[in-house]
Amino acid sequence: MSKTIIKPTSSLEKVLSGEELDFNDGLELMKDENLFLLGAAADKLRKELIGNNVSFVSSYYLNYTNICVASCQLCAFYRKEKDLDSYTLSPEQIVKRAEIAVNDLGATELHIVGGFNAKLGLEYYENMFKLIKLKFPKIVIKALTPAEIFFISKVTRNSVKEVLVRLKESGLDALPGGGAEIFNKQTRDKIVIGKCSGDEWLDTVFQAHNLGLKGNCTMLFGHIEKPEDIVDHIIKLRDLNKKTNGFTTFIPLKFSLENTELEKQHTLISESPSTYDLRIIAVSRLLFYTALKNISVYWVALGKKLAQVALCYGGSDLVGTAFSEEIFKAAGKSNQTSVQELKFLIKEIGRNPVRRDTFFNIIG
Ligand code: SF4
Repeated sequence: MSKTIIKPTSSLEKVLSGEELDFNDGLELMKDENLFLLGAAADKLRKELIGNNVSFVSSYYLNYTNICVASCQLCAFYRKEKDLDSYTLSPEQIVKRAEIAVNDLGATELHIVGGFNAKLGLEYYENMFKLIKLKFPKIVIKALTPAEIFFISKVTRNSVKEVLVRLKESGLDALPGGGAEIFNKQTRDKIVIGKCSGDEWLDTVFQAHNLGLKGNCTMLFGHIEKPEDIVDHIIKLRDLNKKTNGFTTFIPLKFSLENTELEKQHTLISESPSTYDLRIIAVSRLLFYTALKNISVYWVALGKKLAQVALCYGGSDLVGTAFSEEIFKAAGKSNQTSVQELKFLIKEIGRNPVRRDTFFNIIG
């Protein structure tokens, strides 16, 4: 009987010897590399960079409006104003939710995102942040994706910089990384309608980082993207972070199909297989290498059991409690957890749970 020997590709050998990977290397990992070797290499780098800790944040999600002038094919969350279940939270409702987050659930971070609601002026957001900070000066406000910031700048006729400066002065501490989706224009234009381009997203982040507003970055995968789109997206984020060092972590987000136009129009009939999901986590770790230490595994999108495996394929952070998450819930995902459960999930795979703040400082 002849023996089959599984050999790593040259790209894997390259990154394991300490070299940064280029576009073609990334493509080789996406297409040709044995998944188990890929995972083992990513796990090795994770161990070298982060050790045995798996971090998570106690976060509360506050979706201030679901009214959106865009109509992204990937989205199950948005509503038009005339829809019976459309809503926009009042300042009083927002403060009430912040009270629940801080007093009842012990959240250290408010993750505030919503639809593109053209009726909300800059004052709505300024007022929201000021009210929250008045009551809870220590809570971190991580709010408004770069795509929302770009939209607000257009609709209020202020420059992106002006919007960011005013919101920062009102209490904004950090930006969430949503709205990046996939940068490649051809693919992006098929899943996103009415949202900023990839270049506009990147430029908005560049300006935010220059003003001291850090945040995470994301990529939506598992829809109609090609391997080239994945590699291009990660390398663009890597290049930006080398300039600004403003990203706290990279969160590859698995696309959730239920209730989206991509499902209704039968563009896609199922979500990506778990082997593909694990490949994305591992390739992310290997492509970013030392340019960004934290690779996050979003358990809401992956499911808790697959999230545990992903933590062994290069992941080092479980994102957080995501209390009250509504966007993936609208696409059929379960979003219930507790700090105790996240700790248990981490301990169950032999790793060490650590609670972090928004900026990845360990706080317990
Ligand atoms: S993804 Fe965001 S911008 Fe697009 S429709 Fe949904 S809420 Fe609106």
